[in-house]
Formats: sequence, C-alpha cells, structure tokens
Amino acid sequence: IPLGNATLGELPSEVGVPAYDRSALTPGIVHFGVGGFHRAHEAMYLDALLNEGKALDWAIVGVGTMPGDARMRDAMKAQDCLFTLVLKHPDGSREARVIGGMVDYLFAPDDPQAVLERLADPSTRIVSLTVTEGGYHVNQVTGEFDPDSPDLQADLAGDAPPKSVFGFITEAARMRRERGIPPFTVMSCDNLPGNGHIAEKMITAFAELKDPELAEHLRQDVAFPNCMVDRITPVTQQADIDDLAERFGVADRWPVVCEPFTQWVLEDNFGAGRPAFEEVGVQIVPDVVPYELMKLRLLNASHQALCYLGYLSGYRYAHEVCEDPLFVKFLLGYMENEGSPTLPEVPGVDLDAYRHQLIERFANPEVRDTLARLCAESSDRIPKWLVPVIQENLRNGREIDRSALVVASWARYAEGVDEQGDPIDVVDRFKDKVMAAAAAQQDDDLAFLRDKDFFGNLVDDERFTTAYRGFLASLHKRGARATLEELEGR
Ligand code: NAD
Repeated sequence: IPLGNATLGELPSEVGVPAYDRSALTPGIVHFGVGGFHRAHEAMYLDALLNEGKALDWAIVGVGTMPGDARMRDAMKAQDCLFTLVLKHPDGSREARVIGGMVDYLFAPDDPQAVLERLADPSTRIVSLTVTEGGYHVNQVTGEFDPDSPDLQADLAGDAPPKSVFGFITEAARMRRERGIPPFTVMSCDNLPGNGHIAEKMITAFAELKDPELAEHLRQDVAFPNCMVDRITPVTQQADIDDLAERFGVADRWPVVCEPFTQWVLEDNFGAGRPAFEEVGVQIVPDVVPYELMKLRLLNASHQALCYLGYLSGYRYAHEVCEDPLFVKFLLGYMENEGSPTLPEVPGVDLDAYRHQLIERFANPEVRDTLARLCAESSDRIPKWLVPVIQENLRNGREIDRSALVVASWARYAEGVDEQGDPIDVVDRFKDKVMAAAAAQQDDDLAFLRDKDFFGNLVDDERFTTAYRGFLASLHKRGARATLEELEGR
C-alpha cells in the first residue's frame, strides 16, 4: 500500500498511524536537515505529543538546502510528508509507526522566498537543525567560524536570496525584527558538545560579517538551547525499504530505521515557547553538561575501548564484540572504574543501569554498526573522549589501566597491519602523522604518545607510561585477546 493521507486507514493494524487529525495541525517548527536522525528523533517525539492531542500548533515544516535534498523533497511530496519509523529490536522483530507531524517540505533552491516567508511567519517559533558537524562551519584547527564555503560566500556577497542555512536564519531574523515579530529560538540537535553554544557562536559570527547590528540582536534576543541527543540511526538501505513492504505491506519511498533506545536531554532555554516535550520522555534540565560528559565518557569512550581491540581480535561488528563476555567485562570495568568516577552528578540517571543498557545497545545485532566506522577518525576521538578521563584519574590517583590499554590498542592498530598480517585501512585525517608515529614504535615504544596535541603530557607520567608500555608490548607479543584475558583475569 503506497503511503499517503488517503491510505492511512488501510494500513495493517500492527502499523501505528497518527491518532490525530492532520488537517488540524498548524506549523510551529521549521527544521533544516531532514535526514534519518531528525525523523527518528525530534519528529518522533513531536508525533508522540500529537498522539496525546497536544502541541497541535507545533507541526514541522522541513527544509532542505543541499542539492542532495531534492530526493527527500520528492519522497516527502509523493506521500504527503508522511514516513514510517521502524525500530529494530535485538530479537529481530520490527516495530513500525507512521509519523505525521511534518506538514510540508520545502526544497530551498526551488523557492528560497517561500522558505524566508515561512521562517518570518509569526507562527514559526522554533528553528531546529540537524545539518551535521559540517553545517556549522567551524574551523577544525582554531575552533572559530570559517566563512570559506561557496554558499556562505555567496550569501555574504550580495542581496540575492540565501543559499545556506546561516543565510536563511539571519535574513529571517532580520525580517522578523523589521516587522516587529518576536524572534524564534534556534535549536541545534546535532551531535556536538555545546551544540547551542556552537550554533550561536557560528551564526552570530556569520551575521557579524553582514550586519554587526543584526549580530548584536542575535546575541541579545535569540535563544540557542543546548541539548544532548542519542539514538543510533543508520542510513536507510534498500533492504530496509523492501523489508517494510514485505513485513508490513507499506510502500514507503524513504522510511527511517533505528535502534529502540532514544534519549534527548534539553536545556530549558526557549524564547518563544516550546512543545511540552517532557510529557513524552524528554529530560528538560537547567544544565546539559553532566549528560554530555556521561555520553562522551561512557558511550563514546566505550566505542573506542571496544573497536581497536575488537578489530585486532578478529571481529568486524560492534555487536560481535559485545556478545563476547571477555569484552563485556572489560567495557564494564572501564566504565565503572575509570569513566564514571570522573563524572559530576548526573541528576535523574542511574549510572549502573545506563552502563548495562549501553552494552545491550551495542550488542543489538540488527543495528550492524561496523568496527571500521568506530575506528575511523581516532585522532578526533581518543583525545576528546578518553584523554580527559585519563588525566583526571591520574590527578586523583585512580585507576588508569584499561584506558592505557585502549590508547595502546590505537597505537597498535595504527601500525596498519592486523594480527594475521593483513593490511588495516587506517582512516584518519591525520593518518600520515599517526601512522608514522606508530611505525616509530619499533625503536621507541613511547613514540606514539609523544604527540602532545593528542595526549598532552601523558608521556611524562610514569604511572601511565609503565602501564602503557606493558600493554603495547603484550599486544605485540601475545595479541589483543590474550592481553585482555590477562588484564581481566587478574
Ligand atoms: P543524514 O545524512 O540522513 O541527514 C543529514 C541532513 O543534513 C541532510 O538533509 C543533509 O542535506 C543536511 N546537511 C548536511 N550538510 C549540510 C550543510 N552543510 N548545510 C545544510 N544542510 C546540510 O544524517 P543523519 O543521520 O540525519 O544525521 C545528521 C546529524 O544528526 C548528525 O551529523 C549528528 O550530528 C546528528 N545525530 C545523528 C545520529 C545518527 O545515529 N544518525 C545520532 C545522534 C545525532
């Protein structure tokens, strides 16, 4: 059955459908970057509220600015902006529900003026974003705004309609001010620590180049809440589309698939109201930082703890590693004894339950997260997620052994050859320097640690280097699995 307003009543009863009258919805949110994640997360939370008969004036208008978004326009237009969200349970079962809270989709290159008018309309009170890290134009070296992209340059150069997200937001903010309409809130839902702060900093820096007074208005009058978001949402594959048709009889051009787990911790900083998201499981908090640290130091750091050692042990998927009791013991050991002690109080969270839930999520065989993905861009990850944990534990005389083994496993992996002698494809924007340092370990076993950009002064800490050296030697001599067995058997 092709998905659309007209066929909602014909779908099989096991497929959830909107319990609300879609024709009664009015827009309140404009969302840039309608991809997998937005549809599995914010749109799902709004749909849950709508199903309770609430937030009917907060429907979503999706906007795409990139050439590739024409595909999403075609899919959404063909099915009245409806799409199916499919949860992949670890036992192989699927849960499907049609999400109905998106009422329009605008492909900006078709009609930029329509996007501006939608943004400037008084009913638009939130502009939300999932435009990937690249969408914020942060210079990776300086952390400052980088106006070099062609779209930004075009938007800065003339008075033509905007092309970039930043161009649309700033021009719409200007129009609203001119028309005496209160500003909207800009809510970033991208996976960046301090995402609200980053959005504010980068968007105002862009505005500054166009109109300093407008930049001041953004700084003074526009709210940019921070939030922590979590739900593994892989790219939709043709197999997912086929599976939805076979299992549920729904012909959806672009469904979205994800794990059952979902989390959204949102700072209560909105200038023009918001849906009552707390009624559908969103944690609304005054400060997101403890939750971000929890995610970075437990979830993200654990991914690092499992990927290199898992790969060297011959695994290729995260779930394979997390079905192995030796690895589970190691990961829980890291989280309990090294990651968690560095966290501030995380209000309302049972850390022990969170740690076990992470293992369960990683072990979901349906998600099929590859170790290759987790092993990529290590030089962006270990220094941000694990090194602060090590430094803090060294300062406080706490355990560092498992973290030292994780760093050593990266150093071993970066040699580019696995334990069977087969090549490893090291993917890292600093690949050359990382691999050169790993190669130099033959003569100097601390060579890898000497990079102060990545590791600060760890190389000067004897307690750390003693542990690290021992593990690196063991990885070379005995291999990853035997090294883990020895550590966890003690
Ligand atoms: P996706 O590729 O499905 O969608 C990304 C959307 O952003 C597309 O519409 C794309 O056109 C748009 N986009 C990309 N670069 C842009 C730019 N420079 N300017 C404007 N629009 C741009 O990806 P996704 O899975 O939806 O993930 C998007 C973001 O969501 C991630 O980068 C991450 O920050 C966050 N997130 C994703 C997951 C996940 O598991 N997928 C989990 C948590 C958070």
